[in-house]
Amino acid sequence: MFVNTEKKLIWQNGHFKKWDESSVHILSHTLHYGTGVFEGVRAYQTKDGAAIFRLNEHTNRLYDAADKLNIVIPFSKKELNYAQCEILNANGLDEGYIRPIVYLGNEGLGLRAKDLSVNVAIAAWEWPSYMDPKAKEDGISVIKSSHTQYENPLHSGHKIIGTYFSNTMALHEALDKGADEALMMDKNGYISEGSGENIFIVKEKEVFTPKTDHCLNGITRKSVINIANNLDIKVIEKNLNYEDLVNADEAFFTGTAVEITPITTLDNLKIADGKRGPITSLLQENFQKIISGNHPKYKDWLTHTK
Ligand code: PMP
Repeated sequence: MFVNTEKKLIWQNGHFKKWDESSVHILSHTLHYGTGVFEGVRAYQTKDGAAIFRLNEHTNRLYDAADKLNIVIPFSKKELNYAQCEILNANGLDEGYIRPIVYLGNEGLGLRAKDLSVNVAIAAWEWPSYMDPKAKEDGISVIKSSHTQYENPLHSGHKIIGTYFSNTMALHEALDKGADEALMMDKNGYISEGSGENIFIVKEKEVFTPKTDHCLNGITRKSVINIANNLDIKVIEKNLNYEDLVNADEAFFTGTAVEITPITTLDNLKIADGKRGPITSLLQENFQKIISGNHPKYKDWLTHTK
């Protein structure tokens, strides 16, 4: 994704830096070994200005992931929440994508380096849509990936930089084969998730999604389960296999980037009639109302930046 970076600022360790001047040392431990954590957060335009969707949940997940790596973030959650609001304001964004990243310094060299500085940066940029906006209506294609998700339970459920290697491989494999996304399986052969999305299927008006032992417990995933339950739609978390997806009435991905996006083909074969299904549309409609600040029940999911 290419961003117009002219005049843009990035927050780095408490200061705003010009986009092109925010740099990381070549010997940062994180660059060599993937020892860092990150988040993907989204802000939306509402009639009361920019609002960040589920900011506290994202920040909590960032700290939990850092904790897994024994990294102590040298800022409070409140400070990082404030910085995420401020980076949007400083860049004049009333909607966009926010990328907080926590990375280690270069004070010691080699794998065993200890007591490295912990650094935090937050970038933000315009991001109207991750995929072609038509994807929300027409759906996208997935192929089963040859890359397995999360072999190491330490990584499961956390956005740890080094673990994204297999997700990137899976996505690139899918794109090379002409599909839009990858379907990643877990080490037991059950469906795990997309390269950056959680997956749901609908069968006979019930909604199913994999348990989170081998996938990220996405914030959109949790939000969609909540929305569905409030609409009296039952969501069952269980192991799902490839055949469940082949035979589904509907399928969709959820994630900060894709929001709720229908999956209409799997390995070049249509899922059901190959069209977005009614439960997917209903959830999309509700989600859209929530993120635009037009659903009174879910106002506390939005943090206004001003
Ligand atoms: N799975 C993976 C591997 C991801 O990277 C993401 C994106 N954060 C998701 C699922 C969806 O999570 P969320 O809804 O929190 O964006």
